[in-house]
Amino acid sequence: MTTDWLTKQTADDVVHVTPLDDDIVHEFTPGCPCGPAPQVVPGGVILVHASLDGREHQEEP
Ligand SMILES: [Zn+2]
Repeated sequence: MTTDWLTKQTADDVVHVTPLDDDIVHEFTPGCPCGPAPQVVPGGVILVHASLDGREHQEEP
């Protein structure tokens, strides 16, 4: 199972982080079906999308 992530900037201050090869197609909007969690960072917002396989909870720190 791949654990690759795609980082895509959709606006000057918005970056989406989506899991590749997930079971659903992620939309680069805050309304993506996975319910991305916005994280405010200096200079903008990062929207971390949730993978259906829960890989973000399996990675080593
Ligand atoms: Zn998503």
